[in-house]
Amino acid sequence: MKHLTHASADPGREVREFDAIVVGSGTCGATIARELSRAGKRVLLLERGGNAPLKETLGGIVAIADTVKLGAGGLSTVRALTAGGSTALYFGVATEPPLDLFRTHGIELADELAAVRAELPMGQLPDTLLSPQACRLREGAVALGHDWRKHEMLVDVSRCASGYAYEAKWKARRYVEDAVHDGATLVTHATVERIVVDGTRAVGVVYRERRSPIQRVVREARARKVVLAAGELASPQMVRECGIRDVGARGFYCHPGYALYGVVPGMRGTDGFVGSMGCVLGESGDGIELGDANVARALHRPMMLGGLHWRHLRAFPETLGIGVKVSDAPGGQLRADGHFHKRFGRDDQLKLDKGRQAAVAVLRAAGAKHIVDFGLTSAGRVGGLLRIGEHVDARLETRLRDLHVCDGSVLPDEMRGTPTLTLVCLARYAARHLLAAL
Ligand SMILES: Cc1cc2nc3c(=O)[nH]c(=O)nc-3n(C[C@H](O)[C@H](O)[C@H](O)COP(=O)(O)OP(=O)(O)OC[C@H]3O[C@@H](n4cnc5c(N)ncnc54)[C@H](O)[C@@H]3O)c2cc1C
Repeated sequence: MKHLTHASADPGREVREFDAIVVGSGTCGATIARELSRAGKRVLLLERGGNAPLKETLGGIVAIADTVKLGAGGLSTVRALTAGGSTALYFGVATEPPLDLFRTHGIELADELAAVRAELPMGQLPDTLLSPQACRLREGAVALGHDWRKHEMLVDVSRCASGYAYEAKWKARRYVEDAVHDGATLVTHATVERIVVDGTRAVGVVYRERRSPIQRVVREARARKVVLAAGELASPQMVRECGIRDVGARGFYCHPGYALYGVVPGMRGTDGFVGSMGCVLGESGDGIELGDANVARALHRPMMLGGLHWRHLRAFPETLGIGVKVSDAPGGQLRADGHFHKRFGRDDQLKLDKGRQAAVAVLRAAGAKHIVDFGLTSAGRVGGLLRIGEHVDARLETRLRDLHVCDGSVLPDEMRGTPTLTLVCLARYAARHLLAAL
């Protein structure tokens, strides 16, 4: 028998029972579901989005991208609502987990990192896979003395025989498929609305499943462990609604930045791996990063159209893009209704200005003219709302017993760089602790 059933508090609603319910099938949810199913545990994996094949076309991106406003002035961030989560949209840049930082929180990730490195495709791209835009940007940055380096990428270069390939980027969808293969029950179009609490313990979830464009059903499931992996934009609010009221007491950070574009006459740009190279500005630990922001051709036109940048609209091969990202101080609020509202301090504004000036200089040194940007509208990773040691312990369990959180929302404030590699390691670590308790 796959799962037991028993009566719900709501008469007439059948309740299925599992060892673990994992909410969200992104980087962390997929990894945890895979590890638990592989060990023979009965896992229910609930995913708000669908499971349609992933495509890097305008239609494919629009179908899964969800823009979340972070405050006034159009500042927002993007996530993907689909099986496999935001890796469906990510660039694949891999930063090593800060092992010492996690150790200060009582979390050891070294073995997990070694295992993940042995399993996932990872490394710097060969020069033959760098786009003409990325190479041009490097020339400009190096001419100004920046330490412009290749990043490691979660890319299987053996799948790039004809150059850039979206399919070559590792995605958590693969782990969702592994989990299902090993017996996990995946329900897509299933949005978890509430955690079911019994005294001091989480015992299940209530979710709304979309069966068709017009039919929705409310369902309930129970488990010995409930794992929130709905992402940094969803899990903090869910934890707060379970009665853990001090979530977000010190505000949040969101790594704001700019994307700037110029035209380099005669350049013959192609689709390429975004973010494959970049630098950290200065040595002062200011937390200002510059990197390649040459988006895919499928996104170029709609983006330029949205910004009313007519000259760039039809000039994809000649357009050169650079991104600026800064580490902002925690501030603003996650409001009671779940909306984010960020305010930047003077130091944040100074860093943004400094980063923007440096980016313009690199574009100019690379030969770009007609430089434009979209204003301060884009933010990256949102964090600081849930803290290890305050809201979750070193096993990532909340004060509400049997409710765990493992996703981008629990990453330490001091962490820099890109999160996916760290999250895969952290999710394996969390799965190990869950298995010990199941
Ligand atoms: C454009 C872009 C580029 C990026 N580039 C990089 C990069 O180069 N390198 C890198 O390391 N990272 C990058 N990232 C960030 C990275 O993709 C995310 O940090 C990472 O995937 C987060 O994993 P997660 O498990 O926390 O959440 P996610 O992967 O976002 O997964 C959360 C899942 O939960 C589901 N969900 C949400 N609410 C509910 C609910 N109520 N019920 C059920 N399911 C729910 C969502 O649909 C989603 O599938 C990028 C992100 C974007 C958007």
